[in-house]
Amino acid sequence: MSGFEFSETHQAVEEFLRRYCTEEIEPLVPQLEEGSLSSSEVLRKLSATFQMKEMFAEPMLMARNKKRNEDEANKSGGSGSGSDPAIPAILFKELSRVSPGLSLCLLSTFGCGATIASKAPLELAERLALPLLSLETVGCWALTEPATGSDAFAMRTTATLDGDTVTLNGSKAFISNAPCADVFLIYARLVEQASDRDDKTRIFPVVVEKGTPGLTLGKAIRKMGMHACPTGEIFFDDVAVPRSHLLGDPAKPARDVAEATLSTERAAIVAMCLGVIERCLQDATRYAIDREQFGKPIAAFQLTQQKLARMFVAKENVQNLLLKLIWLQAEKRGTPAEISGAKWYATEAAVSVAMDAIQLMGGMGYSSESAPERLMRDIKLWTIGGGTSEIQQLTIAKHLLRQEGFSIDLAGGYSNDASQT
Ligand SMILES: Cc1cc2nc3c(=O)[nH]c(=O)nc-3n(C[C@H](O)[C@H](O)[C@H](O)COP(=O)(O)OP(=O)(O)OC[C@H]3O[C@@H](n4cnc5c(N)ncnc54)[C@H](O)[C@@H]3O)c2cc1C
Repeated sequence: MSGFEFSETHQAVEEFLRRYCTEEIEPLVPQLEEGSLSSSEVLRKLSATFQMKEMFAEPMLMARNKKRNEDEANKSGGSGSGSDPAIPAILFKELSRVSPGLSLCLLSTFGCGATIASKAPLELAERLALPLLSLETVGCWALTEPATGSDAFAMRTTATLDGDTVTLNGSKAFISNAPCADVFLIYARLVEQASDRDDKTRIFPVVVEKGTPGLTLGKAIRKMGMHACPTGEIFFDDVAVPRSHLLGDPAKPARDVAEATLSTERAAIVAMCLGVIERCLQDATRYAIDREQFGKPIAAFQLTQQKLARMFVAKENVQNLLLKLIWLQAEKRGTPAEISGAKWYATEAAVSVAMDAIQLMGGMGYSSESAPERLMRDIKLWTIGGGTSEIQQLTIAKHLLRQEGFSIDLAGGYSNDASQT
């Protein structure tokens, strides 16, 4: 990254992916949407072409062991680009220009794989994370439950420890990739004593593999958009897995793993929004020039020009936010307010740009033949998923007020430490 744009290397990756997505993936979108072609098949092909194993999976696992990483880096003369946050951002952006649903499948598998790669014992990480991050298998990660969405840490699914076994009971709802996943990363409340049942800090990820007795799946739900990515429920009835599948130290609060996954997801969502905005602006601009009414191109009308200008400014803002997030990720910095602010702005901007594109394109915009119609339905998810726009605003306010000694929680509670000093 240099200044306000991607570096030359990043631009080359962007160009390569743009061509691949346009030529190889876009023609398959109708089949992905109707479900006659699975997203995992398309992603596996992308992975082989883009050498995901070498780009992400292996470098991420190498980073687990610093010494081994250094040895490998010395041998190969450099480290993989798995540590460069711009590369996945470009991947999410370019995929979202043609199919945000496909991008969501990728995000869910990456979210599951990256957590296992960084937190699981090495043997488990190598066995499960490598194929996930190479997109050979499908992963999902599950926080939301039927009764707990925004209040995610009030979850009811429990994990209990008995010797070398962890047992899960409960259920999850609205989980992307659940109907087709090979590996499930389940957030559960670790209950060792009665008081743990209300403790919102004892939230641990537990790895469950497809076919484990007691694990059952609901059918894929019908929904407004993101048709390329199935969403469903997961049920746990005494699902027993080895102790090594519980990630983290039960002696310590572990909610930070879930929070870190959410932050990474929010940055990826900003990249997806930029892809949708770029595509809508491009299609709307071309349409405005080609479409004639009252004897001239509609691009000649100032109300059309105003829409294009508004879309352009949204693109510039979201692009700048994404470049800043990538920089923050590389520097291992970033406050919750910065991340939530970017997610909130980008998702609302993407919906608004897609709606502007539809309006500008008239009947053609409303028709399923146009990309903006589908992109709008897909991207609307992100004002809800990964934390709603309302929750992002509360998170920003919480962070700002805390700096002044005024503490709030998302349930409306507060304490004013500043007034007591
Ligand atoms: C297609 C799809 C895919 C998904 N994929 C996943 C996944 O892979 N993994 C996963 O864990 N989850 C996933 N989710 C769940 C998603 O993260 C939740 O839907 C989201 O967090 C909101 O929760 P909820 O739907 O229960 O809404 P609720 O929490 O019931 O909220 C309803 C409304 O109340 C508002 N609200 C709630 N609390 C407050 C408050 N304190 N102040 C003001 N307003 C408030 C909300 O903003 C919202 O407008 C997915 C959802 C969908 C639709």
